[in-house]
Amino acid sequence: MTTALVYSDRFGAFHYGADHPMRPARLRLTFDLMSELGLTNLPDAVIIEARQAVEGELLLFHTPEYLRVLREANTGVIPVKGPEHGIGYGDNPAFKGVFEWSCYSTGASIQAAELVASGGADIAFNIAGGLHHAMPGRASGFCYLNDAVVAIRHLVDMGHRVAYVDIDAHHGDGVEYAFYDTNKVLTISLHESGQWLFPGTGLVTDIGIKEGKGFSVNLPFPPGAGDGLFARGFEEIVPAFIGAFRPDVLVTQLGVDTFSTDPITHLNLTTNGFERMVRAFKGFGVPWAALGGGGYDLGNVARAWTLAWAEMNGAAPPETIPEDFILKNGAIFKSDKLRDEPLKPLPDADVRIVEKDIAFLIREVLPMVLGQ
Ligand SMILES: [Zn+2]
Repeated sequence: MTTALVYSDRFGAFHYGADHPMRPARLRLTFDLMSELGLTNLPDAVIIEARQAVEGELLLFHTPEYLRVLREANTGVIPVKGPEHGIGYGDNPAFKGVFEWSCYSTGASIQAAELVASGGADIAFNIAGGLHHAMPGRASGFCYLNDAVVAIRHLVDMGHRVAYVDIDAHHGDGVEYAFYDTNKVLTISLHESGQWLFPGTGLVTDIGIKEGKGFSVNLPFPPGAGDGLFARGFEEIVPAFIGAFRPDVLVTQLGVDTFSTDPITHLNLTTNGFERMVRAFKGFGVPWAALGGGGYDLGNVARAWTLAWAEMNGAAPPETIPEDFILKNGAIFKSDKLRDEPLKPLPDADVRIVEKDIAFLIREVLPMVLGQ
C-alpha cells in the first residue's frame, strides 16, 4: 500500500476574513499535528507539493466569464460583476488571494486523482479539497471552484468510472448538479437534512435524471443523528451502491462539520463514527482520492484528518496530543485526546425517518444501478 498527501504550506496562508468560519489555517494545523505525531515521514507515504490548477482544467466545469470575475477578485476588491456570481459578501468574500487559494485546492485534487488513477499511489489525500458547493458560474457556501467536479471530470475524460461519496454535514449539491444526468459517475451524499441546513437540497427522492436516473443518491439525517445512526446509514447504503456500480476510482469528501462541537451544524458525530467510515472507504480496495471539506472547529479538523491519514497508512498514532503542541496552538484543542469519547445515541423517533429512506434507496434506487 502506498499513499500520498498532496499538500502545500501555502494552503494555510489565506484568510477569508476575521469573522468568517472558514479558516484555511486549519490545514496547516492539521499538517503540523500529523508531523507532531510522526505521520509525515512514514516509509510508504510521500508528501507531494500541491500545484495550482490551470485555466483549461477549470473550464471542465466553470464558465469563462465566472473565471474572469474570480481572477479579478484575487486583489481582494469586490469586482463590479462579483455579486452577480455570488462573490463579495457574506459566505463568499472577495479576499486577497481568493483565486490563488481556489486554484491550489483544485490543483491538489487533480493531482490526487491522477496519482490514484495512474497507480502512483493507492490512496491520495488533499485536505484542501472537497469544496463541493461551487457551481459553474457561481461561488456558494465558502466554495469558489469545485475541485471535486474538476477532478472527477478529468478522470471521466481518461475513461474511468468514478464513485463520489460525500460525508460532509452539508449536501454535496455542486457535485450532484455536475453529474445529475450521467451514469458514468455515481454520487452519494449523506448530510443533515436540507430542512434544517444549507443548501436546503438533497432529498432522498432526488435520484438523477435521464441516463443518470438512480446514479444520484441522497441520504438526509435529522439533527442529532450521532455516530450510530449516521454510520449505520453509511454502512447500509454506501457498500451496496459501490458494489453495484463497481467504480475504477473512488473520490470522497471527508467534511468534519458533522462533529458535535461544530459551530454551524447539528449532527453530533465524533471521531468514532468518522473513523468507521474512513475504515470502510479503505476497505473497498478501490484507488481512492480523498478530499477534505467542511469543518469549523479547528481542533476537530486537525484531529479527524490526522486520524484519517493514519488509517489510510495503517499507522497507529499516539492517543495523546503532546502538551507543548497544544500550548503552541492556543485554546484550539479542548482536550489532549486525539479521539473523542463516544456520545449517547439519539431518541427512537429520528431513527424511523432514516430507516424509511434507507429502505427506499435499497428497494427503488439500487436496482437501477444494478441493472445498468
Ligand atoms: Zn459542510
